[in-house]
Amino acid sequence: MRSTWPALAVLLGLAGCSTATAPGEGDGGAQPVPALRKVLDAGSLALVNASVLEPATGALESGRTVLTSGDRIDAVGPDGTVALPPGALAIDVGGRTLLPGLVDSHVHARSADLPRYVDEGVTTVRNLWGFTGLLEGAAALVRDGAVAPSIESASPGVDGPGSPWPQTQLITDPGEAVALVDRLAGEGWRWMKVYSHLDAAVFEALADAADARGLRFLGHVPFSVPLQHALDRGMLSIEHLTGYELALRGTGPTPAERWASISVEDMPAVARATAAAGTWNCPTMTVVKVLAFGGAGDAEGSRRRRMLVGALHAAGARLLAGTDSGIDATQPGTSMHDELDELVASGLAPLDALRAATSWPAEFLGRVGEIGTVAPGARADLVLVDGDPRQDVSALRHPRAVLLRGMWLERP
Ligand SMILES: [Zn+2]
Repeated sequence: MRSTWPALAVLLGLAGCSTATAPGEGDGGAQPVPALRKVLDAGSLALVNASVLEPATGALESGRTVLTSGDRIDAVGPDGTVALPPGALAIDVGGRTLLPGLVDSHVHARSADLPRYVDEGVTTVRNLWGFTGLLEGAAALVRDGAVAPSIESASPGVDGPGSPWPQTQLITDPGEAVALVDRLAGEGWRWMKVYSHLDAAVFEALADAADARGLRFLGHVPFSVPLQHALDRGMLSIEHLTGYELALRGTGPTPAERWASISVEDMPAVARATAAAGTWNCPTMTVVKVLAFGGAGDAEGSRRRRMLVGALHAAGARLLAGTDSGIDATQPGTSMHDELDELVASGLAPLDALRAATSWPAEFLGRVGEIGTVAPGARADLVLVDGDPRQDVSALRHPRAVLLRGMWLERP
C-alpha cells in the first residue's frame, strides 16, 4: 500500500471550505448526490418538529424541539415547551428523524477527506495513526469552524522492523519501552498504537510501561503475541480482528485463505474471552472485504468474519464501526454506511449497528453525555434523515442535513 499522509500545511489549509462529494461506492451507480452546504454558523438555533432518536435507549420521540447555543445542545423537549431565547433562529425539520452525529472509529485523517465524512453524517473520527502536527491541526479546525469532524487520535504506530507507514516509532529493544511510552504520553496522544511486527518481549515491555504511565494501548495484535495474551494485557481495542485468525487456527499463505479456514466452533469461546477482558473490536469489515477478498462479500473468509463479529456481539464483547478511510481503499463518509450494512449482515439489529457508530464509541472515547446522544449539554453534532434507521440503516445515507458543532449544513 502506498503512503498517503497529509502534510500539516495541508491539514491547516482546510479551514471553512467544503468540497463536492464523489458518489460513494455504496451508491450502486446512482446519480451523484450534491454535497451538504454550510448554511448557518454556530449560533442560537431551534430545530422544531423533529423526531428525536436516542440510540442508547432506542426511543424515537416525535414533535420535539432541540435548542442549541454555539456548539452545545441547550434543551430538548416537546414542541412549544422549550423557550426560545430572543434572536434564536427556528428551523422546521418536517418531522424527520434527528439523531446524534456518527463516529467513524477507524480513519487515517487527511485534510481533503474531512468534509466528506461530515457529508455522510460523520461528526467525530478516531484517527488510528498519529503524525506530527495532527493534534494542533485538529484543534485549529474546530476553532476555525471548518467543515471537518472532531478528531481523536492514537499515537503514531509503534512497531518493529517491517512497518510500511510513515513516522513509525521503531522499537526492537525492550529497554527502550519506558522512554518511548513516556514520550508518546507527553506528546498528548490518547492511546498508544501498537502494530503487527513487534517482538513479543518488546510488546511485554511496552505493556508494562503503558500500565505504569496510565496510557492505554490499542491497534493490531502483533504476530508474535497470542490473542489471549493481548486480551490479558489489557489491550483496549483490536483493529481489523487481528489476532483472531491465528487464535481460531486459520491456515494458509494469504489472509483470504486463513480467514476462510478459521474455526467456527471455537468462535463462542474466543468471543467470551474477549468480552471478559473488556477489549473492544473495530472489525473494519468493509476495508478488509476490499483488501483481502477483492470486494467479494460472499467469499468464505468474509462470511466467517461476519460470523465472528456476530459471535462477539452475542457474547457481549464491545464493537465499534470503523472504515479505515484515508488509505485509498474505502471512501471517506460513504464507507461508514457500508460498514453499518456489514454489521447488520453479521447479525446485529440495525439499532445495535447504529449504536456501534454513536453511543458505543461515546463510551469508548470517555465522552458519554458529550457525543452519541441528543441531550442538553451534549455537543451540537446531529444528523437529520428521512426514515427510521432502527428499521433500516440505509436511512442514514446522504443525510438531509447535519449540525456540526452548532453549524447547520443542508443538502441542496
Ligand atoms: Zn488503519
